[in-house]
Amino acid sequence: MPSGKVHLAVELSLLPGWVAAGAMAGLPRPTLTAFALSYTCASLLLSPDLDLVRSTPARRWGPLRLLWTPYAWLFRHRGLSHSLLLGPLTRIFYLGVIGLLVFLPLHLWLGVPFPQQLPTRILAPVLAGVYLSHLLHVGLDSVCTYLARRLPNR
Ligand SMILES: [Zn+2]
Repeated sequence: MPSGKVHLAVELSLLPGWVAAGAMAGLPRPTLTAFALSYTCASLLLSPDLDLVRSTPARRWGPLRLLWTPYAWLFRHRGLSHSLLLGPLTRIFYLGVIGLLVFLPLHLWLGVPFPQQLPTRILAPVLAGVYLSHLLHVGLDSVCTYLARRLPNR
């Protein structure tokens, strides 16, 4: 399997190409910026390999890596967390639950209001960034698995 560093190197090396393609397609700068930030954050912090307790993406969270331990317990390695469609949704939903658990006491005890409007204009480029990073990760995992099975043992 490729290491977390290899995944990150491949994903981040392709980012300028994705942004250039988006610019040539006429996407506006705020959309490209939202995509680039989302793609970079997803590559660094929302890797499918968060399904491993000890992984490079988990270590990038520093002391907050403990937040991902229940995720690693819930999802076996390369299972649902690596699903093409549902994988990113598991991590987005998981982060949403954590955010709610953090925000709810602030709302209940300090009266902090819930956000009235979500930034829906950037939703599509943010999801595109998360999903493209995810698809590259799973694709690289699949290519390496295929090659490992096909190539003779060294
Ligand atoms: Zn993986």
